[in-house]
Order: sequence, then structure tokens, then C-alpha cells
Amino acid sequence: MRTKLTRLVLLCASFCFTANALAASTALVGGTIVDLEGGKSLPNAVVLIDGERIEAIGSREDIAIPDDVEVIDVSGKWLIPGLMNMHVHLGLKLPGKMSAELANETEAELAFRIAAAAREVLHAGVTTIRMPGDTARAGIALDKSIRKGESHGPRIYSAGESLVITGGHGSEPGVTYADGPDELVKAARREISLGASWNKILISGGIATDGGGIAEALMTPEEMRAVIDAAHRFGAKVAAHSGSTPATSAAVDAGVDSIEHGYMLDRAVLKKMARAGTWLVPTIVVSQPATAPFFERIGSPQWYLDRRDSVGKLHWESLRTAIDEGVDIALGTDQLPHEPNDGTTATAREAQYYAEAGMTNLQALRAATIAPAQMLDINDQTGSIEVGKYADILAIDSDPVDDIKALRNISLVMKGGTVYRNEL
Ligand SMILES: [Zn+2]
Repeated sequence: MRTKLTRLVLLCASFCFTANALAASTALVGGTIVDLEGGKSLPNAVVLIDGERIEAIGSREDIAIPDDVEVIDVSGKWLIPGLMNMHVHLGLKLPGKMSAELANETEAELAFRIAAAAREVLHAGVTTIRMPGDTARAGIALDKSIRKGESHGPRIYSAGESLVITGGHGSEPGVTYADGPDELVKAARREISLGASWNKILISGGIATDGGGIAEALMTPEEMRAVIDAAHRFGAKVAAHSGSTPATSAAVDAGVDSIEHGYMLDRAVLKKMARAGTWLVPTIVVSQPATAPFFERIGSPQWYLDRRDSVGKLHWESLRTAIDEGVDIALGTDQLPHEPNDGTTATAREAQYYAEAGMTNLQALRAATIAPAQMLDINDQTGSIEVGKYADILAIDSDPVDDIKALRNISLVMKGGTVYRNEL
């Protein structure tokens, strides 16, 4: 009874709100809204924004624009939701020159470095990121600062510190880490208590460190089950770094939420992921030719380049098969979202790779917008241009459903109703 009454009050409140339309502060006028559901796009549209949220959407004839709103003319542009990048390490230090230069970085210096990166992320049109692996939990602190309005950057969902096992990916030789279900559960809960909404486990070897083979299943099924169970009890999710088919298979059985990279996954395990609804975050840019100049620029050592090249073709085949099998894919780069790549950003290039690997342009656009929002369980808040959601909106120069390369030309970035880039 009480619930029904509350709902009625809310209904009335939202109705009165829209009917008056007086609360709106900003109007995006004249753009074409791309339909993420594959329907016809809405040309000559009006999007009314009240504070952080979208208040009304319609065609120009149907929506009266209040006199006192700030009108942003986006005629000739296509409107899409802010991009979302699900595999970002803002504090990333890669082997070689970069690590050497940052060897003595203090935590305060790290905080400023990632705050500067976060501004660039937003400028590149990426309004939400997930950090599966934080450094000194600076991403959690930065998210708080951004939400308070002190700093500019995307919405950040951090996994806190990665849960590294002794000898595994991310470990230093001779150093012991969390091993066994009990220690891993304790470490998982520690990160959640410090503000992590995800836990990150590293269940196979990786490219950037020498800790164990990429194809090997290094973490035991008991260890995975323990972390995943502990995280889920707190409403947190679990992302697993995995290049390996057996490791991925065990993680899917244990109920993992996302598989990161998937460098060498066979068709059987991808079928299993599709059935279980396990997300894949491909980070395909890191192993493909377009990224070679980046690795040269940061002075990567030869062992690292060899390790990357050895997985490139297999990674590509895994991605193609995943798309073919209908695995749920959320875009992630493992590079900084704004990192220059092939004449655009790593984020736009990643989406382009998805189309090249077999997605339709619309599927690639969804992988960069609504799909990550679904993975994060925030699709009632952002991920599409809909009434009631945050006004996280980009204006781009052409229709991405015709060609996903449209993501290369962004002329307006709005996050939560505030414009952070305007090149209209
Ligand atoms: Zn990573």
C-alpha cells in the first residue's frame, strides 16, 4: 500500500515537472539522436536538461523550449551517449622508459598525474570509466573529488588494488601476496571497505609482466570461488584478467562477472561465456598493429614487444569468435582512453576494431555506451539518451550507424549537463 502511494506521488511529481518544463537549464537543439535500439534516429531533436539530468526529449515541433534556458545549437550533428571505457588504469606504468621515469613517484604526485589524465579522458568524450586495478586507490579518491565537483573527469568505478597471487601476473619475484581462499577473501573485503565496487583477480599470466604464462590457469578454482562469493555478498562484482581458456572456464563456473582481455580463448569457452552471460572486455588495441607506435614512444623493451606480438593473432581470433558466438562485449582499452592511436583515441580505435572483427556499427556503438552501463548495473542512470538519466551526451559530426569511424570526430562533450568541450 505504502509502495503504491509512493509510486503515485513520484509519478505525479515527474509529470508536473515535465509538463511545466520550467526547471530546464539547457537545451540541445537541432541534432539527430541516434537510436541505440536500431530504430530510426530522431532528426531535428530537442533535449531539455535540468541540472544533471535529461528532462525531456522530442522533435522540435513537439517540445516548447523555455525562454530562460541556455540553447546549444547542435544542428547538423549526431547525438550519442557519452562513451564508456571499462578497462582503464589511470596510474598505469608500463615497462621501459615510462617505468624508469616514474620510479620514484610519490602518492601525491600520482594523484596529480591521474587527475590530469582524468581531464583528458573526459575531453576525449569518455564520461564513465572502470578501473580494474587502481594504484594506491587514487582512482577511488579521484572519483569522490569529481563527484564533489572539485575535479573534472569521468564517473569512475574502481576495483581498488588488484588481488595478486604470489608469482602471478602483477607480482614481483620473491614477494608474497594474498594466497589461498582466506587471504584472498580478506584482501577482497579490504578493497571493498575502501570504496571499491569491483574486485580484480589475475587468474592467468599477462603481457606486461613476466609472472606466469598467458595460457596458464594460475589461480585455483577454490580461490576464485571464494573471492567471487565474498564480493557478491557485498554487492560488488569481480573482473578477471585472463588470457587463458582453462582459467576462463573455471572463472565462468565460479560466477565471475567479466573476463578482461581474453587473449587466447577457444570457441567452447566463449560459448560457455555467452550462455552464462559473462562479459568480455577485449582491450584489443593493445595487441594490434595500430598501437605499435605507442609502444615505440614509451620505449618498451624487446621482451615486452615479443610477448605482445605472440598474442596479437590469437587475441584477434578470440575477439572474432566471441562476436560470432554473441558474447556480451563491453569496450575497454587497457590504454588511457585518450591515448593517441592511429590518428584518433584508443577508445575510438577499439570500437573501430570491433566493427572490423565482425560487429555491426550499431553493435560497436552499443559496446561503447549502453553495454558497459549494463555491465556496471548503472543503465538506469546513464549509457543512453533517455529522460531521467544523466545528461552524458556527445555531439559527433556524422552518423556512427553508417560508419563507426564517426567516433573520431567529437565536437561537444557534456557530462551530467555540464559542457566540458565545445568545438561546435
Ligand atoms: Zn589492465
